[in-house]
Amino acid sequence: MRTREKLVSLKNASIVYRMESGEGRRVWSGVSLDIHRGEWVAVVGPNGSGKSTLASVLLGMNPLSEGQVQRRTDDVTSMTRGVLQLPEAQFIGETIAEELDFLPQAQQLTAEGRRSWYAEVLAAVGLSLSPERTMATLSGGQKQLVNLAAALATSPEILLLDEPTAMLDPASRKEVREAVRQAHQGGTTIVWISHRLEEVADATRVIGFGAGRITFDGEPRKFFYGEVGEKSEKFEKIKKFEKSSPCVELGFDPPFVIQTAMHLLEQGLTLHPLPLNMEELAEVISCR
Ligand code: ADP
Repeated sequence: MRTREKLVSLKNASIVYRMESGEGRRVWSGVSLDIHRGEWVAVVGPNGSGKSTLASVLLGMNPLSEGQVQRRTDDVTSMTRGVLQLPEAQFIGETIAEELDFLPQAQQLTAEGRRSWYAEVLAAVGLSLSPERTMATLSGGQKQLVNLAAALATSPEILLLDEPTAMLDPASRKEVREAVRQAHQGGTTIVWISHRLEEVADATRVIGFGAGRITFDGEPRKFFYGEVGEKSEKFEKIKKFEKSSPCVELGFDPPFVIQTAMHLLEQGLTLHPLPLNMEELAEVISCR
């Protein structure tokens, strides 16, 4: 088996904030994880569990109090680019063109070269907008797509998303998801922090945070279905299964598809593979 290339490695990482009172507040304890090239890591957990702390550590904005972080390269800014929750928080330019002009890639282009580059960068996230459009006139979804386009234009090894769809309507959420899928297919490693479990189904790996610690690290099927998810090939032999799963243990209601599948399993149906989204559920039922 080919060894997967490690891009970032955290070993026993902890973060302790010094409060005004002088007291230390430990918000991250003993976090160890490796992120490999090509992965799509979904990071989930309740509010205040330490997910955004992971974002700031990966973006090189938060030094560790204890433990180590190793990266494939010391150039953190070119290695990892982030798109955060508030679309406007990341804007520097007034128009799309100005926004993109701040990127180092633009500096090497002539005015003529830039025109086709803008179109290319925007098309990569499915946007066909005039680069002269003022950012303030864009919808929330379009703003996040411009942020995504700007992040991807620098060809980062890791695209870090911290709840980028939190403020968006369902149609825009879908567009962002599609753009991220395209980037992943193009070889970008994805780390997506989300509390929307439907966004987890695309991931190759789920990391669950609870109270500043990693409580789960494994495949989406195991996250949603528990131990049974790991043994889905042998599922026909498993007559009874525990309804508890890492997803439930972290305090989430499983998505509708997973709940439906679980009901069907309880009725004695065999579902293989265990479905993670509507398309898979429809397929597994129609193949029976
Ligand atoms: P999440 O993204 O899962 O909601 P965070 O990583 O933002 O969680 O926060 C983890 C914990 O660290 C929370 O209890 C939060 O209040 C605390 N925290 C985050 N930033 C700071 C800070 N600068 N000073 C003190 N505490 C902080």
